[in-house]
This record gives sequence, C-alpha cells and structure tokens, in this order.
Amino acid sequence: MTVIGRLFEQLHGLRTRLHEIETSRERAKRQLAIKTTGINKKKEELEQTRNDLKQARMAVDQKNLNLKTNESKIADWKNKQNQASSNREYDIIKNQILADTMANSVLEDEIIESLEKVDRAQIAIKEKEQEVAAAETEFKKVEADLTAKLPGLEKEAAKLRIEVEETEKQLPPDIEVIYRRLVQAHGPDALSAVATRSCSNCYLELTQQMLVELRAGKPLMCKSCARYLYVPSTVES
Ligand SMILES: [Zn+2]
Repeated sequence: MTVIGRLFEQLHGLRTRLHEIETSRERAKRQLAIKTTGINKKKEELEQTRNDLKQARMAVDQKNLNLKTNESKIADWKNKQNQASSNREYDIIKNQILADTMANSVLEDEIIESLEKVDRAQIAIKEKEQEVAAAETEFKKVEADLTAKLPGLEKEAAKLRIEVEETEKQLPPDIEVIYRRLVQAHGPDALSAVATRSCSNCYLELTQQMLVELRAGKPLMCKSCARYLYVPSTVES
C-alpha cells in the first residue's frame, strides 16, 4: 500500500472512532438533559394535582359550612314561622324555608361532586408520585452509567487525538492543507475508502485510470463528493 493511502486509512479509522466517542458522549448528555426536563414536567404536574386536591378540599369545607349556616337559618325561620302574626308573614317565611332547603339540596350535590374530585386527585397524586420516582431511578441509572464510562472514553479520546496529530504530521504539506479543509467540512468523512472500485461515501464508480493512480500513491479526490480517496489495505493486499 502506498504511504499516502496508509496515512489516509489510519486517519480515517482514528477520526471515525474519535467522532464516535464524542458523539456518544454528547448523546448521553443530551439524553440526561431530556430526562431532567421530563422529570421536572412530571413534578410540575404533581404539584398541580396537589393544588387541585387542596382546592377540592377547601371547596368541600366551604360548602359544608354553607350547608350548616343554611340549616341554622332554616331552624330560625321555623321558629319565626311558629310565631307568625299573620298569614302573609307565615307564607313569606314558608317561601324562605323552601328557598333555603332547595339551596341546601344543591349544596349537597356539589359536596358529593367535590368529594369525588378529592378522590380522583388523591389517586392521581399517588400515580404521579410513582411516575416521578420511576423517572428519577431511571435518570440515576443512566447518569451512573455515563459517570462510569466517561473516564474511559475521555482517556481513549485523548489517546486518539495524539495519534491523529502524530499521523497528520506525516502528511505532505500541500495535501495537509486540503485535508484540513475537508476535515473542517466533513469530519471523519473527509476521507473515503474505495470499495469494489467505488467511492464508499457517494458510490461513484472510479475509472481504471484513477485506481491505477491511487495504487501508485497519487493523492486523489472523488470527482463527485470531493473526498480524499484511499484503497484499504485489506483490499490492496
Ligand atoms: Zn465520492
């Protein structure tokens, strides 16, 4: 294999692995950030449901109070009714008692409704508490996993960076300039292996002339995707 081809092959392998490490680290961090957002959302929902429960309980208390007030009013009206001095007064009081009795009937229905709300909120709170706990357990697991893997990945990445640097030093200066520009634009895909006579990045079939030149050590770029081409050592041997 030609020198330039071997360098390109090495750099392609090293940069691809480095890119994989960096990508997986970023992905793990992003995953943690998404999980944190999810947990916070669940916590907000839990807080909202706790508020709903508080409101429903307050409504029950208030309506019970109104019910009692009305009941004592009805008792008062009944007392007054017994002491009414005229038929007209008696009828007025009778209508008041009727009105308050109806109001209490409505209140009783509303109390039942509010108690149902209390029940529903209590069930929802239990469910949401379990959801939050499960999400937090999952988060800790992913975080612990990342914390365990990270030092090894960082170490491997540091080693790869040195190897990349060392290998790049061996590139002829005129090629290095173009190579750096390609890496800037495409990352590890700046380099493309030739597989079954084609560019493995864009699948353009190479001419016989290009293959001969590549094997002879001439640095060539793919005419379609403009990547530096190399013939892998496994194919060449
Ligand atoms: Zn190509």
